[in-house]
Amino acid sequence: MRIVYLNGDYLPETVAKVSVFDRGFLMADGVYEVTSVLGGKLIDFAGHVKRLERSLSEMNMRQPDTMGDLLAIHREMVTRNDLVDGLIYLQVTRGNPGDRDFHYPSADTAPTLVLFTQSKPGFANAPLAQRGARVISVPDMRWGRRDIKTVQLLYPSMAKMMAHEAGVDDAWMVQDDHVTEGTSNNAYIVNDGRIITRALNHDILHGITRAAILRFATEAQMDVEERSFTLDEAKQADEAFFTSASAFVMPVVEIDGTILGGGKPGPVATRLREIYIAESLKSAI
Ligand code: PMP
Repeated sequence: MRIVYLNGDYLPETVAKVSVFDRGFLMADGVYEVTSVLGGKLIDFAGHVKRLERSLSEMNMRQPDTMGDLLAIHREMVTRNDLVDGLIYLQVTRGNPGDRDFHYPSADTAPTLVLFTQSKPGFANAPLAQRGARVISVPDMRWGRRDIKTVQLLYPSMAKMMAHEAGVDDAWMVQDDHVTEGTSNNAYIVNDGRIITRALNHDILHGITRAAILRFATEAQMDVEERSFTLDEAKQADEAFFTSASAFVMPVVEIDGTILGGGKPGPVATRLREIYIAESLKSAI
């Protein structure tokens, strides 16, 4: 049985309980992070904590008192769950004010901090990365602050179900003919070796994997252009791929039934995946 973390305690998953009045439950008033673990070590941990701080601050949410202990807590979760390869999910909500009210509770209401692990043995060698992912496009119907990593994931869930029903692997979201991002990842195309991905603003999540990939690409003398691209441009691109903490770099070989790169993962995506996994392992803590 998994051991989860709840407000200072490590508890069996069946024992840990959160109040029905918790703002996360009633209002989706919470933010989260997902950190990958490879070989028992944390990937890009500092980046995830930094983004968590930003999400909390943008939501005017109090930091958990244990904010400075997050590395130790993550490591304890790895140990207690014998986690080798997988994910650590962390969520902070605005806590339990003892009743339902739209207004934020007073500052003395303690935030709720929850962590749990998901074991995914060998997930860095996911078969999908060899085959390449197939995606459909869906309209982006999310709210206007997608740069904050909130737990309001209903539309991304709906979009993933649309992809599932269409028999494909995921969906890319489109706003004003331009791709914003994937349901749970950042989207890229490649033309003549040049990597193109949407610039950072309120429209997309500022992916931690995205930041690392753009850094590695630049270090490897690859051209990077941060700009929006249209869905049509994506369908005509040499290559496409997406990135996230759990998928690393995932080649995309089909968009809305249009085959890219002969239906095989492209060389740029393949190389970036190799670089990302190798470099992340080197700096894992
Ligand atoms: N965009 C969205 C909407 C996401 O949910 C995620 C995954 N958290 C990402 C991008 C990728 O972010 P990261 O690389 O930090 O996992």
